Amino acid sequence: MTIKIYDTKARAKREFVPVHEGEVRMYVCGPTVYNFIHIGNARTFISFDTVRRYLEWRGFKVTFVQNVTDVDDKIIKKANEEGTTAEAVASHYTEQFIADMRAAGVKDPDIRPKATEEIPAMIELVQLLIERGHAYEAEGDVYFDVRSYGAYGELSGRNIDEMESGHRELRADGQGLEDRKRDPLDFALWKAAKPGEPSWDSPWGQGRPGWHIECSAMSKKYLDLPFDIHGGGADLCFPHHENERAQSEAAYGVTFNNYWMHGGMLNINNEKMSKSLGNFLLLRDVLQTTPAAVLRMLMLQTHYRSPLDFSDDRLKESETALSRIENFVKNTRWAAENAGAADAVDAAAGEGKALDAAALSAAVDAMRAGFTESMDDDFNTAGALGFVFTFVNEANALIGEASLAADDAHALKAAADAVAELVAVLGIELGGAEDEASYPAEIFDLAREVAGYEGADGEAAVQALLDARAAARAEKNWAVADSVRDGFTAAGFVIEDTPQGARVSRK
Ligand code: AMP
Ligand code: ZN
Repeated sequence: MTIKIYDTKARAKREFVPVHEGEVRMYVCGPTVYNFIHIGNARTFISFDTVRRYLEWRGFKVTFVQNVTDVDDKIIKKANEEGTTAEAVASHYTEQFIADMRAAGVKDPDIRPKATEEIPAMIELVQLLIERGHAYEAEGDVYFDVRSYGAYGELSGRNIDEMESGHRELRADGQGLEDRKRDPLDFALWKAAKPGEPSWDSPWGQGRPGWHIECSAMSKKYLDLPFDIHGGGADLCFPHHENERAQSEAAYGVTFNNYWMHGGMLNINNEKMSKSLGNFLLLRDVLQTTPAAVLRMLMLQTHYRSPLDFSDDRLKESETALSRIENFVKNTRWAAENAGAADAVDAAAGEGKALDAAALSAAVDAMRAGFTESMDDDFNTAGALGFVFTFVNEANALIGEASLAADDAHALKAAADAVAELVAVLGIELGGAEDEASYPAEIFDLAREVAGYEGADGEAAVQALLDARAAARAEKNWAVADSVRDGFTAAGFVIEDTPQGARVSRK
């Protein structure tokens, strides 16, 4: 079984063949740290985190590099607005970025280089480009000579002559800086320092690097060329990635990377997210009210290359979808632990057929196969989750009415574990909604009132209530038994009476 990846440059899915067998070296452009990251950024980073996790699960040794752009016009502007330094702005938002990513369940990259710590590698690369005739200095700036690199435009599918006419129109309003370039298409590799801006010594005087050069320098330094996968949001394809490729291939004379992956943009209620439309959402604000697993469920139900629509309705749907999976895993683990315990009750009641454990195991195998096939097909997370949901339905039907024997414990546990394992491959960790804080105060109040439970452990409070209800029923004290049921209902839970005893799940 091979993995296929849609390669932007080929404009087709291509079979994935890594440069070094069993290893994947990937580079995903990181953020410019002048603000908290928004959920659009988060979508792109979650997509590539999922790609990485899946490749690791498929047995590859993955090296994941993501830079932090900590010197840039936007950072300098923010520092001026706030009366602080660019360094202070960048270091604050770098820390916040790392915290937000962890809160969203995105794994730390193996290497997270910062632009400001890699200036010597960038200067070396710019010098190489000048030596090889692909770049020139102009009044302390250095520009890449786009026409010196014949493959310019190949990645984004642009024609160099059409691009130029577009630029000429732009120049009509007399942008001063443009005049230092020999050709309007040329882009800056190094920018001469302006007063008050961060700057470094260079062979061309004090200055700072252009944005594109940092990724070319860092990917070469940490991954070597050609590396396997280069990723980012679709908005980075041109000019950022086109320029990275031009710099690296012109300087080193080898292929930059073998697969280009671009993620689709996130929109809000079908509108582009923007500050001026007032629909700008920060990741940290969303995570205040939404567990990371729900957010990932929402994002991964859309293919990473398609536009993603973010809305409250979709969040609610994702919450419901996640709780179906969580309830299944929780209930099935519970059933595995208790299978056989109530044989006598079943026999007395004379109901419940035996579990078809072979059918359950076959359904697990089908889910694993479908999941893998979908993910192998250009990381089709929506398809992969579809197999998990189908399995949960089938398994619920098989387990639902069966009376479970001790022998069934193994098949039940395997079913629950397989679901938890596969969703974890997508970075969806189950159990987040099960902690004590997620039980509402009504449950604790009821547990105190009916069962005398005074603690703060949600699971223990629920168990105390179920025990009190069982005792009340045994005594035919229907008033107390009903008050427990009604209390759970009011708090958004249902009690299910199963052959193995009562259990509680979210409605
Ligand atoms: P930036 O800090 O603007 O360079 O963005 C960091 C990453 O977020 C890049 O990979 C962008 O392509 C991506 N990104 C920015 N806006 C969106 C959006 N609305 N939807 C998806 N990805 C985005
Ligand atoms: Zn980049």
